Amino acid sequence: MSLEDHLGDIIRKARAMSDATASVAARAAQLRETELSSLEDSGRFSKRPDFIALANAIGLNGKKLENIANGWLPAEKDLNTWQSFRMFTSAGDGMTVNCFLVWDETTRAAALFDTGFDASVVLATIGKERLQLQHIFITHSHPDHVAALGEIREAQPQAEVHSSSKHAPARQRNQPGAVVSVGGLRVSHRETPGHAADGVTYVIAGWPQNAPAVAIVGDAIFAASMGRGNDGWDLARNKVREQILTLPPPTLLCPGHGPLTTVAEEQGNNPFF
Ligand SMILES: [Zn+2]
Repeated sequence: MSLEDHLGDIIRKARAMSDATASVAARAAQLRETELSSLEDSGRFSKRPDFIALANAIGLNGKKLENIANGWLPAEKDLNTWQSFRMFTSAGDGMTVNCFLVWDETTRAAALFDTGFDASVVLATIGKERLQLQHIFITHSHPDHVAALGEIREAQPQAEVHSSSKHAPARQRNQPGAVVSVGGLRVSHRETPGHAADGVTYVIAGWPQNAPAVAIVGDAIFAASMGRGNDGWDLARNKVREQILTLPPPTLLCPGHGPLTTVAEEQGNNPFF
């Protein structure tokens, strides 16, 4: 899977975040404005920019930005490490989005994190694996992440919905410090607003064979990038720093878009941090 944000997307987001105009960024990069704009659109360049100076001008880490330009990708993950964990990628409205299903092998208790666009693949897996869907956790209520929620709830009415939305019914709202059990798995949460006011990260622990924790981060962070700071860029960046990058380094990060990554990989490679 390629990165959710290509090099140009990363640069454009960083400019928005740092309020750097195209002319300031282009000058730092030693590019013409038209060259910068084509780099931002396509992620590709014909003349190599001065990445270090560009990164300095737009608040990114230069070495890491250069690494992205050189084709860095997070390592392929072996999902068999986590019993049992599935990622589904569905398409709609001209984009793709990830959702995640986890369950306890013994009790068959299951939890879904976001729904994506396609209820059928989720429901088919629940049926085929003879799972009891007990919980649906929502990372934030942007339409792509909850598109199939109605259909899944209709098919699985016993599943409890959890979210950090102020608009959700009180019994659905994540309570501070709450830990939800899914068989032997334990789900806790950390508020990560910034991309969305109700943005929240769910941390799943208690895996067999001591497999690392899994964090479902919504659009707070992507491999090598981060979600648009709709609710405040500084807030978004600070929450990722405080609430996500402080998890143990082997923690698997599961973004709403693009490939899986880890805390260690993002600490070492994400130019926003
Ligand atoms: Zn979103």
